[in-house]
Amino acid sequence: MREDTEETRQSLIDAMRRMNVLGINQGTSGNGSIRVPGGYLITPSGLSYEALTPSDIVFMQDDGKAVGKHNPSSEWRFHHDLMAARPDFGAILHSHGKGAMSIACHRMDIPPFHYMIALAGGNTIRCADYATFGTQELSDNALKAMEGRKVCLLANHGLLVGEKTIERALALAVEVETLCESYWRCLQIGDPVLLSDAEMAAVRVQFDKGYGIPPEEE
Ligand code: 13P
Ligand code: ZN
Repeated sequence: MREDTEETRQSLIDAMRRMNVLGINQGTSGNGSIRVPGGYLITPSGLSYEALTPSDIVFMQDDGKAVGKHNPSSEWRFHHDLMAARPDFGAILHSHGKGAMSIACHRMDIPPFHYMIALAGGNTIRCADYATFGTQELSDNALKAMEGRKVCLLANHGLLVGEKTIERALALAVEVETLCESYWRCLQIGDPVLLSDAEMAAVRVQFDKGYGIPPEEE
């Protein structure tokens, strides 16, 4: 687990800035967190990522107490509940990308139309039921959609990703945003051919060989 240092806080800011540069999020939308001893670091609510410095990041204690000079993200509840329920997550990212939003606004799960869907942890990416942003109901719905997954869509809202590190969470968010964009394109010309359970199982076998994961991280 990472310590609460300037470097860790900066890596959270860097990930949020990178999402905006890559065009998978924009403005003050989205938020992120990194697990540290005693709780997690989270982006402040409604502030420009460009202007953030490490001291602007909020430390949320495991008991829900926020320590910092700003309010924590309005979505601290799903960060909090995921950090508690998912020890496999060391970092969480939420984004408002155009691809994810397009599918999420139709409240559609994404089927196995492309083998990279397996990166999300299963054969589909679920879309969590709609709830107002910043509510406990949204967190409850997100946790349900995340069961056995590292990724879910949030209906009429965006994307949620959990990973071991912030770097991996960012990489996964980029992949999933691309999948969403591709699925949206596929739907323009009809229904894409879906991979079977057996084909997806074979993909899982390939990924389980350690695709792209440095040995020291496994
Ligand atoms: P915050 O700026 O409060 O994190 O809100 C952004 C967001 O995406 C809400 O869902
Ligand atoms: Zn949001």
